[in-house]
Amino acid sequence: MLSTAEADRLLATLHQVGRVETVPLAQAAGRCLAQSVLADRDGPPYHRVAMDGYAVDASENLGTWIVRGLQMAGKPPQERKGPATAFEVSTGAVLPGGCDAVVRYEDTKRTGDTVCLKPGILLPLPGSHVHHQGTDYHKGDQLLASGLILRSPHLHSLASAGTDPVSVVSRPRWALAATGDELVEVRDQPLGWQIRRSNAAAILGEATAWGLTPDTETVLPDNGESLKEGLEQLLPGLEVLVLTGGVSAGRLDLVPEVLTQMGAQTLFHKIDQRPGKPLWCGQLGSTVLFGLPGNPVSSLFVFRRYVLPWLLACEGRPLAETRVRVQGLKPPTGHQTVFLPWSREHGVLDWKGSGDFLALADSDGFIEVDAEPRSLSEPRVHQWGGYW
Ligand code: AMP
Ligand code: MG
Repeated sequence: MLSTAEADRLLATLHQVGRVETVPLAQAAGRCLAQSVLADRDGPPYHRVAMDGYAVDASENLGTWIVRGLQMAGKPPQERKGPATAFEVSTGAVLPGGCDAVVRYEDTKRTGDTVCLKPGILLPLPGSHVHHQGTDYHKGDQLLASGLILRSPHLHSLASAGTDPVSVVSRPRWALAATGDELVEVRDQPLGWQIRRSNAAAILGEATAWGLTPDTETVLPDNGESLKEGLEQLLPGLEVLVLTGGVSAGRLDLVPEVLTQMGAQTLFHKIDQRPGKPLWCGQLGSTVLFGLPGNPVSSLFVFRRYVLPWLLACEGRPLAETRVRVQGLKPPTGHQTVFLPWSREHGVLDWKGSGDFLALADSDGFIEVDAEPRSLSEPRVHQWGGYW
């Protein structure tokens, strides 16, 4: 049976370089930048006053000045009004012409129109508290390179260069479809032999925490003909379809069969892992298909372990491998790769199998204990998205 590493390699062959789209600057955080951003002016664009106080000419070597004028932020630059004069200035103002330094309010004493340095304060040096034009970057410099994942500091650069909207790599257009005749909607009252469908809620929550909300979320029946009809309606225009349920050994586990009848090519079926062994992956035309096992823990683990990183890679946001130290981990039985619920505080958590979603309540994610030889001291960890 396929190992986790072999499955990863096969999946990597399906990476699709995303399309490019433009989004408003306000929605650009977290996206992969698909353009380079050049400065349209110097940074700062003018000699910027960096402290509230008085602008003076330091070369006069004076400690007392007559205040002649006010140069506040947002006002066009003015010229100094003669020798031994100062301008009252605010942070962000243009340094007035004829001045080369700023003295801070807190270093001065003002009496009427006269301002002088407090005792013990040294005479200002040229350039004091002035953020000179072009000291950070010059017009035409590249501020941000294509391929960067946009975080909050980058938005300063985008905004300052007047970049709105922003070109980013598109997110895959994907749909999530549950299969299972036992499933009812969350708001419905199940009969004794039915269950409310919860896989979609959990997977959608996880995907959304990474910024990858599906375009469509639906449910399909277990019956072969109706499943085919449902799939035929759903597939057009989709880049990725993620199904849950119907990929195991049951009589009505028809997802791979129906999809292959429709012309899908199987990339793999079954990985030597637990939970999540029945994972199926294939391709129909240009649509990439994932068939996740229906059990609640399996489907969420497998989504987080394989599908989410794959979707992120398509969006230009490959996930780095993360490992954690785990104390006293006992080697699991068997030879498969094993996924175990894990919390930062308590390490590996007890659980009763792949139907036991409540056991994940305290988890921060799950660890991956490699197939033999087992690496027990520092396994890979797959953390839940988002909210830490
Ligand atoms: P299957 O993979 O279809 O054989 O389903 C395995 C188990 O997962 C069964 O007990 C199903 O009832 C359960 N299951 C399947 N789909 C869902 C779902 N969407 N939400 C919750 N449980 C599910
Ligand atoms: Mg089923």
